[in-house]
Amino acid sequence: MITGLPDIVRDLPGLRARVAAWRRAGESVAVVPTMGALHEGHLSLVRRAAADADRVIVTIFVNPRQFNSQADLDAYPRTEEADRLKLAGQGADIVYVPDGATVYPPGFATTVEVAGLSEGLCGAYRPGHFAGMATVVTKLFTQTTADLAYFGQKDFQQLCIVTRLAADLDLQIKVIGCPTLRETDGLAMSSRNTRLSAEARAVASSLYAELQRVAGRLAGGAAMSACLEDAKAAIVAGGYQAVEYLELRAEADLAVLDRPDVPARLLVAAWLDGVRLIDNIAIAAAA
Ligand code: AMP
Repeated sequence: MITGLPDIVRDLPGLRARVAAWRRAGESVAVVPTMGALHEGHLSLVRRAAADADRVIVTIFVNPRQFNSQADLDAYPRTEEADRLKLAGQGADIVYVPDGATVYPPGFATTVEVAGLSEGLCGAYRPGHFAGMATVVTKLFTQTTADLAYFGQKDFQQLCIVTRLAADLDLQIKVIGCPTLRETDGLAMSSRNTRLSAEARAVASSLYAELQRVAGRLAGGAAMSACLEDAKAAIVAGGYQAVEYLELRAEADLAVLDRPDVPARLLVAAWLDGVRLIDNIAIAAAA
């Protein structure tokens, strides 16, 4: 028998009843929103949530509104039973797996858009993605009524947008960003990595290696535009098909920077083997 398996809850009244019982007992509630196909990166968020809160809800919802390609939505891995088994012993009480109508009931007409932060970077290449993400995250926050929400820094622009929307809408939830978990070769863990061929997987870690190389050069005082152009060329030479963007942005508000004079993030999106991968690292402010 497997112990510590979370219950699956699919309907909103069922979710609300469970949360209400926890509230009556004075317990705090955390939520970890995911699209499933769980890996160690997701589980690290669940463990952190369980360390901080009395109760943990993991949500699994492959949100059609945040996919801007039907092919990408169709290809997204769906592994619910395996996901539940992976959550055993990690501290999750409930896996909330709503269907489409539970999130978007007939007549649903509201969109949450976070201006500014949603433009540029991934927003420039995935029209509608962040509005879809912000809308579903707002729904998951209001449906779960959680006190705490855990997001990965791997999706750094997403983390900034969610933090902003929670503040702007006076949601009574604290958004907590958690470090990116990586494979042993440095590749950021991602549900999309399973779609890479063995050959592509073997070269995939060059993306992170190039981010680190840029960080080292910037710390040594090299000119930023040359560093970024060299790294883009190196990523393609390393086997990636194309680099969508490689940019330095301020960590606090994603402002465009022409040099790392404030705490920053170096963010990248690139295509490998028909799969779009993203990553980012922190860049300390230069002295
Ligand atoms: P996803 O299922 O890809 O939508 O991701 C769900 C959550 O897990 C998001 O907050 C992601 O930022 C986070 N996440 C995804 N990959 C990682 C990773 N490698 N390390 C830490 N968190 C991650």
